[in-house]
Amino acid sequence: MEKSSKKTCSIVGCDNDSKRAFATTRIAESVASTGLKVKDMRSRKIYLCQDHWKKVKKVFKKDTKAERMRWGH
Ligand SMILES: [Zn+2]
Repeated sequence: MEKSSKKTCSIVGCDNDSKRAFATTRIAESVASTGLKVKDMRSRKIYLCQDHWKKVKKVFKKDTKAERMRWGH
C-alpha cells in the first residue's frame, strides 16, 4: 500500500488535493455561506482544494475582517 500524506478536499463531490487546511470551527460557517457542503463536519479540520479555497476565501475574508490587524500603518 502506498502511504500518502496528501489530503483530499473536504467538500462533497470533490476529490482534488487540498491546498489549505483550517480548523472546522473557524471555516465551517464560511463554507456554509458559499453553499458548499463538507463531507465530514465532525472532522476537526476542513481541507480545501484550490478551487474551493478561492470560493470560500471571498466569504472568509469578510468574516475575519474585524479580527485582522494591520500594523503597517
Ligand atoms: Zn474541492
